[in-house]
Amino acid sequence: MNIGVLALQGAFREHIKMLRQLSAAAVEVRLPQQLAGLDGLIIPGGESTTIAKLAAAYGLMEPLRRFAAIKPTWGTCAGMIFLAKALEDSDQPTLGMMDISVDRNAFGRQIDSFETALSITGLGGAPFPAVFIRAPVVTAVAGDAQVLARLADGRIVAVRQGRLLATAFHPELTGDLRLHDLFCTIVKEGAAKKPA
Ligand code: GLN
Repeated sequence: MNIGVLALQGAFREHIKMLRQLSAAAVEVRLPQQLAGLDGLIIPGGESTTIAKLAAAYGLMEPLRRFAAIKPTWGTCAGMIFLAKALEDSDQPTLGMMDISVDRNAFGRQIDSFETALSITGLGGAPFPAVFIRAPVVTAVAGDAQVLARLADGRIVAVRQGRLLATAFHPELTGDLRLHDLFCTIVKEGAAKKPA
């Protein structure tokens, strides 16, 4: 199982470390040809405007769309913004792959970052320690996108739509491997469906 991590900007090294702890082969992706042979892709947190600009500059927009159209892809924070079909407060380009609307800087300046224990559908055990940094929230889901987690005030912070996963927080900045493990399971299911 080969999982790529988009390594244009942001917290890609941390995702790679987590994947390797789960014994998945993890590689940095900066060029379109590096998507070949991958079974899944993580788009990390960072700054979505920068990730979008660099992806366009490296000719990655269409290759990333083609990849996410058939392979498991998980966006965390800025990566979630990048996967969304609609943004509330910005006309910056996105891949437009998930039926979610996203408010980019939902917490404004008054709460720059915080950590909270989240109950996430499909994850067993204790609540997940979720780290939010200038985080977005999902303001609407459509199609077959399913809400996996909400904050105590009801705002949506994790969504799954088939092979696509989006989390508003940074699971790679905690020691908790359960979401990376869930993504590896989605990737394995995707690989198992491939024709022989
Ligand atoms: N709000 C940031 C953006 O617009 C995302 C922050 C993050 O990824 N930690 O890209």
